[in-house]
Amino acid sequence: MSSHPDVIVVGAGLIGCAVAHALSRQGAEVLVLDASAPGSGASQASAGMLCPHIEGAHDPVLQGLGADSLARYDAFIHRVCSDAGMDVPYVRNGTLQLADTDERAEVLRRLAAVLHGQGVPCQFVEGVAAVRDLEPLAAPQRAGLLIEPHGAVRIRDLIEALRQASLHQGARCLHSEAVEHITRHETGLVVETHANTFHAPHVVVTSGAWAMNLRVDGHPVIPTHPVRGQLLRLQMRSGALRRVLWGPGIYLVPWADEVLVGATMEKVGFDSRATVAGVMQLCTAAQAVVPELAEASFSEVRVGLRPGSPDGLPLIGPSRRLPGLVYATGHFRNGALLAPLTADLVAAIVRDASADVPSALAASRFDL
Ligand SMILES: Cc1cc2nc3c(=O)[nH]c(=O)nc-3n(C[C@H](O)[C@H](O)[C@H](O)COP(=O)(O)OP(=O)(O)OC[C@H]3O[C@@H](n4cnc5c(N)ncnc54)[C@H](O)[C@@H]3O)c2cc1C
Repeated sequence: MSSHPDVIVVGAGLIGCAVAHALSRQGAEVLVLDASAPGSGASQASAGMLCPHIEGAHDPVLQGLGADSLARYDAFIHRVCSDAGMDVPYVRNGTLQLADTDERAEVLRRLAAVLHGQGVPCQFVEGVAAVRDLEPLAAPQRAGLLIEPHGAVRIRDLIEALRQASLHQGARCLHSEAVEHITRHETGLVVETHANTFHAPHVVVTSGAWAMNLRVDGHPVIPTHPVRGQLLRLQMRSGALRRVLWGPGIYLVPWADEVLVGATMEKVGFDSRATVAGVMQLCTAAQAVVPELAEASFSEVRVGLRPGSPDGLPLIGPSRRLPGLVYATGHFRNGALLAPLTADLVAAIVRDASADVPSALAASRFDL
């Protein structure tokens, strides 16, 4: 590759890696810069759930974007795996939400009615026996809602596959390159790290929660903020849980060799420590939903800083102040779900700066 790439991607989290893959696939020379190691930000802690009709239940825009991205997921995984020459664990066997009170059961009944109206395949069931038919290990519940198209992906494997696939297509990735400043020069954009200066006609900002610390000439501060999430890795007998479970204040994501239990939501700035209170909260809520987890072994607690945005939606789109600069950050709780949609949108914008981006996502809504 030349020392003047077509595109510099600032941040090698899941979003930066997905963007780098899509761009290198369409023939661009891509250079990815990360302040530390690829995938070491929020993405390494992600539970990898793909569930737009739960995460977007409060916001039809988010739900619609999530459903759009979910519809791209099979093809996305197929492309990444074949380009990388490796498999990525990925399932689409639904999510089961549990309700242990009449009030919660009523919320699920209403959600089921809305989803039926939208043509989303789902089953609302009532009573302990009916829920146990769907998940034998669940504690007694009033009701359950199975949303069939939902699924999950193992994020660390997905990042590694995206990285391998991009490298095969000629992308380069440099770590320990913390970008400090982005500015314009007559020949394009200039990206300065503590030690080096890089030039490219296009720069994509994918630095997650840390985007707020970037200095971009003539731009206001990028309005991201960190929201800490703690997530446990537990080991119980293989195949014990059938699918992703959501209970009060908790979700469980089963894989053949482990169960992920998440996650806390904490506004504590850039403090990425695991805490006793966070671990206790998750253990207590998880055991209330699946009592057998009391016997699980404890492997690890992971901590990630989700990139929050002021309205809970990501910022995706070109800068209107600095031609060639593109934003793809602020994915908050839905970066895994929205990765295929984000990568497709950024690839289209780099091809043609006037490409359509849903207005709810446009970076220009924050005067960027
Ligand atoms: C506990 C937890 C569970 C989650 N579960 C889910 C889920 O089930 N489903 C879902 O869809 N989403 C989930 N999320 C959210 C999802 O993980 C995030 O939205 C996603 O990881 C954001 O990816 P990103 O690439 O934007 O950010 P990050 O992964 O944080 O990557 C940003 C990268 O930028 C680098 N960087 C920072 N500053 C600079 C700089 N100045 N120069 C160069 N590089 C820089 C960092 O080192 C990092 O590698 C979860 C998050 C957490 C924390």
